[in-house]
Amino acid sequence: MGGCSAPNCSNSSSIGKQLFRFPKDPLRKKKWVMNCRRDFEPTPHSRLCQVSFSITK
Ligand SMILES: [Zn+2]
Repeated sequence: MGGCSAPNCSNSSSIGKQLFRFPKDPLRKKKWVMNCRRDFEPTPHSRLCQVSFSITK
């Protein structure tokens, strides 16, 4: 648990990757989800790692 929410990514802070929480703003959050190419509803515990985050931009 506590790892990245992106598909095929298992990065986590335990291996030195920085993880970002999904924004509270609904529009920004939706954009992140779309960028993940994965249909899911992030929970307050969902995070995206720095690698997936930069890929999805
Ligand atoms: Zn990731």
